[in-house]
Amino acid sequence: MLFEQSNRFLQKVRISGGGRCNVTHACFEPQRLAQHYPRGRNPLRAAFHRWQPKDTMRWFAERGVELKTEPDGRMFPTSDSSETIIDCFLSEAQRQRIALQTRCALQHCEPLPEQAGWQLHFDNPAFALVKARKLCLAVGSLKSNNLQRQLEALGHTIAPLAPSLFAVNCSDRRLSGLAGVAVENVSVGLADSKRRYQGPLLITHRGLSGPAVLRLSAWEARVFAERNYHTSIAVNWLPQQSSASLEAWFEQQRIENGNKAIHNTPPSPLPKRLWQKLCATANCGDARPWNQLTKAMARQLMETLVSSQFSISGKTTNKDEFVTCGGVALKDVDFRTMESKITPNLYFAGECLDIDGITGGFNFQAAWTTASIAAKNIAESTAQVLNPQL
Ligand SMILES: Cc1cc2nc3c(=O)[nH]c(=O)nc-3n(C[C@H](O)[C@H](O)[C@H](O)COP(=O)(O)OP(=O)(O)OC[C@H]3O[C@@H](n4cnc5c(N)ncnc54)[C@H](O)[C@@H]3O)c2cc1C
Repeated sequence: MLFEQSNRFLQKVRISGGGRCNVTHACFEPQRLAQHYPRGRNPLRAAFHRWQPKDTMRWFAERGVELKTEPDGRMFPTSDSSETIIDCFLSEAQRQRIALQTRCALQHCEPLPEQAGWQLHFDNPAFALVKARKLCLAVGSLKSNNLQRQLEALGHTIAPLAPSLFAVNCSDRRLSGLAGVAVENVSVGLADSKRRYQGPLLITHRGLSGPAVLRLSAWEARVFAERNYHTSIAVNWLPQQSSASLEAWFEQQRIENGNKAIHNTPPSPLPKRLWQKLCATANCGDARPWNQLTKAMARQLMETLVSSQFSISGKTTNKDEFVTCGGVALKDVDFRTMESKITPNLYFAGECLDIDGITGGFNFQAAWTTASIAAKNIAESTAQVLNPQL
């Protein structure tokens, strides 16, 4: 039986992927797939051998839902509507005669003596006390969920909870007037770390966003939280170019475009408006031509291009996708079954675990994988109890 505290099942699926539901990602090699998870990649690597994106695709196809792949690898239903995914789950539940109960929040769970199962207390008077052989918690983020304390009381470790996948706030004159400007490929990192994350970047009214920043926020989620979202980041605006190739490009401009204003001739693919701001930072933002670029200015321009530092003061929720990093510690869970190693007959699936992925369908895939392993094990072990001949 499935219990849901709100009045509708699958609300997050409904709003996911901008209403289109980015179901999974076209990455079919467990080792490579696991690389997309800042937390959880080791146990997931093995779990993906049991259920991976190909299995997700097949499961939906068998139920009449075809998925399509976008050029960046994200997979969506061909209908481009998350309702297709919701309808599929709900009709499958009906077909399998699985009872669905909404407006029923689990408030307390007590293991019965001698591993006899669970006594569950819900806030709905019709289900005030339920006995169950097995309990699977798929309750999403444990942030502000009262089950967190109960899990701790049972002996589980809860890895610190923090938001992941957010944009960063930054008020800096170099960005003023540039809201809406997108850069094809940058690399960003915390200024005091060597780790760098590549991808498109978007300048917003509040600061910086886009896939590169979301990647940074995911991989460094805990560092950002420890620093209360006040830290410095460094942006390399042209990561595909080495310092030597940039120097060669400056030299080429001096020769071929000597009389042209520096700020009017941006290196590809930098947007001109951004280039003009960067030139101003390096003191060559006036109508100065390339043949008057001094060595000091060239050094400063180079520094600005490869490592512009920005002070971050806060974060903004990314509306398209966000997750909580942290949750039930992975050492407390047997990933072959998703059963707790501490409390028998207790299973976990999805975001309540200390697992999170970058954007692109990876978070749902982790949820499908852990849920399918848990469900299969619960079904098999329950069938064995009911019919020991099996
Ligand atoms: C705006 C947004 C868009 C997203 N888009 C994508 C995307 O396109 N692709 C992707 O891969 N990921 C996406 N994600 C992330 C993805 O939604 C989550 O990783 C995923 O939903 C986790 O599934 P879950 O079942 O663990 O948790 P949830 O989907 O959060 O479901 C948990 C359910 O448990 C219920 N619940 C909680 N406590 C109790 C209780 N005590 N008793 C009864 N019920 C309870 C909740 O009401 C909820 O319905 C998105 C997230 C957001 C916020």
